[in-house]
Amino acid sequence: MSDNAPTIFSRIIAREIPATIVYEDEQALAFKDIHPAAPFHVLVIPKRPLASIEAMSPEDAALFGHLVWVCKKVANDAGHSAYRVVANAGAEVGQTVFHHHFHVLAGRSFKWPPG
Ligand code: AMP
Repeated sequence: MSDNAPTIFSRIIAREIPATIVYEDEQALAFKDIHPAAPFHVLVIPKRPLASIEAMSPEDAALFGHLVWVCKKVANDAGHSAYRVVANAGAEVGQTVFHHHFHVLAGRSFKWPPG
């Protein structure tokens, strides 16, 4: 895996800028999205600065499995057993911060397919 340039999320990991952190362990951090798109909107990120799923290597599979588990945990801990997990990989599909993040959204109804 190749790590990528620091982003604003690296500064959140380093506690250089504030965030409402809801979960942390050695590999992962989860914090509230600053512009929530649902009543519950948390971002789950790896502490390593991996730009997106597109930057994954096979050896990152366990890390990503762990991140998915963290998505479930933060939703469950907030009382949600139904939630949507989204990852934008690439500017063309809406990625704006190039440090991989899973959006975990809950607390309202959702349409499919997403826009
Ligand atoms: P994406 O468009 O998929 O790259 O999502 C980036 C997300 O990061 C957006 O939902 C933003 O609202 C969120 N975001 C950007 N800066 C911050 C920040 N400082 N703290 C929390 N969330 C942020």
